[in-house]
Amino acid sequence: MKLLLTTLHAKYVHASLALPCLAAACSAVAGVEAVIREYTVNEPSDRLLRRLLVEEADVVAFSCYIWNIETTLRLAEELKLLRPQTFIILGGPEVSYAAADILHRYPAVDCIIRGEGEGSFPELMTILASGTGRSGDRTSLGAIAGIAFRSQAAVVTTPDRPALARLDDIPSPFRLGLADRDKPLVYYETSRGCPFSCAFCMSALEPGVRSFSAERIRDDLLLLMEAEVATVKLVDRTFNYDAARANEIWAFINEHNRTSLFHFEIAAELLTDANLALLSRVPEGVFRFEIGVQSGTPATLDSVARRSDLPLLYANIRRLREETGVVVHLDLIAGLPGEDFDGFLASLAPLFKLSPHHIQVEPLKVLKGTPMRRIAAREGYLFSSHPPYKILQTPWLSFADICRIELISRLLDLVHNNGRFPTLLRAVRGTIPLHRFFADLAAYWDARELPQQLALAELFRLLWCYCETELPSEHRVLYGDAIRYDFCMTEYPSGRLPGFMDGALAGRDGGTGRDLIDTARSRLNLPAGSRIRAVAVRFAHDCLKPPFTPLSNTLSFLYLSVPGRRQEVRVIPR
Ligand code: SF4
Repeated sequence: MKLLLTTLHAKYVHASLALPCLAAACSAVAGVEAVIREYTVNEPSDRLLRRLLVEEADVVAFSCYIWNIETTLRLAEELKLLRPQTFIILGGPEVSYAAADILHRYPAVDCIIRGEGEGSFPELMTILASGTGRSGDRTSLGAIAGIAFRSQAAVVTTPDRPALARLDDIPSPFRLGLADRDKPLVYYETSRGCPFSCAFCMSALEPGVRSFSAERIRDDLLLLMEAEVATVKLVDRTFNYDAARANEIWAFINEHNRTSLFHFEIAAELLTDANLALLSRVPEGVFRFEIGVQSGTPATLDSVARRSDLPLLYANIRRLREETGVVVHLDLIAGLPGEDFDGFLASLAPLFKLSPHHIQVEPLKVLKGTPMRRIAAREGYLFSSHPPYKILQTPWLSFADICRIELISRLLDLVHNNGRFPTLLRAVRGTIPLHRFFADLAAYWDARELPQQLALAELFRLLWCYCETELPSEHRVLYGDAIRYDFCMTEYPSGRLPGFMDGALAGRDGGTGRDLIDTARSRLNLPAGSRIRAVAVRFAHDCLKPPFTPLSNTLSFLYLSVPGRRQEVRVIPR
């Protein structure tokens, strides 16, 4: 029996962890030839359908999430029309909590795995491979806990399946060679479940935390590090739920890592002195921590059962930034109970003071099966009935407020998170609180329609339009210096230059920059094929360090292009 395990990713760089785990769980089932095929939701649907059909699989199992469920259901329907003998299975968080409803509404779907699949799936494959249960009378499937299936005209839901007691019972998909280690981003898990129960989160539905054994984790991590996977993203819901365990794994990675970067979701309140001491020894940028702040309002956090000690959370994030080289990514959710637009800005404000590398803001999603659905009904939330079930209005936020917050989120990505404007943001921060700056910038663009696609040079130009006309005029020269400095740090100024470069160029390449290039070339011993360019630019402030003291000066920017390396920019005072 040929089994096709498939999913549609949001982006090409992603690699599924669920499918290799299911294939590993079925590896001992006789008579099953499993293949994994991963696609993206952005591919034309006819091409996806054709790719599924050419596999001529007897059983097709789709892994379903909020970003792919609509396309998946359509594909399942069309696949069944063209190849009616195919047995179609759905699994994943997006179908686990509405299994019977989906089976009633989509006759093409034969079976749904509810919750963790590695227990039910091999049992299901054993029965299907034996030749029973695929069509007609499917009563044999009724013996499998944790599924729902169609049997002739009826939909049958079997009893819930307890979570696997020992995660190590799932054979390692990495050891079996079932997981794709060539993608730039590989997902990995060391534990399942979360010690917390936030009402808006799927993890709230699963009690307790289970971990793979230390030996298993070390073995898998070694395989990933030896394969020099570019980024290993751990999907553990709260990786550091046990501080000692987290330290052991971090120490192991730090000892054996070659070139990989590691992404963890952590609870910053749970970090200990021992954690921070170890993290201070990890090379800069190798670890990336995603930390959910979600809201800065204690009453709001209480209303969604999110346990959080905000002063400790902020203190530990500050320590992460000051004492370690960990890249810090903070998350906020807009639209939680009791938080209006000003409340959202009040939650955003303290985050800037922590100097994170990234701030991600997302409107609340009222996910299927979560307690947030009950809260939303009680409070009168309006949210989309289509995935990802985003809020449209709350008792505290209008639709226009939510759109404005989404624009703030996009501007944070463009101006804060991409790291291209550090000097401008430092200069602005000395004159206006950054949360206010982003709120006003969003209001400005709300009235003008920010283009969907923006080249970097255009972004500089548009940002300068705003700074020049809307920010306090007494600081305009400073803002001009700061954005000019960031611009010159980003790319060699050429072509039509933005307004903030007017009259600032003191020389380039063949002119006053020639001597610099000659000196650099003789000192740097660059390999053949390298290229150096230079510009000299005038400033009215000392942009090399805050507080940007007024100082008439000229800086030279050297752009070193070495084959096989990213362009490097060096700044030399003249
Ligand atoms: S939001 Fe994070 S901390 Fe809260 S239940 Fe979900 S995974 Fe756990």
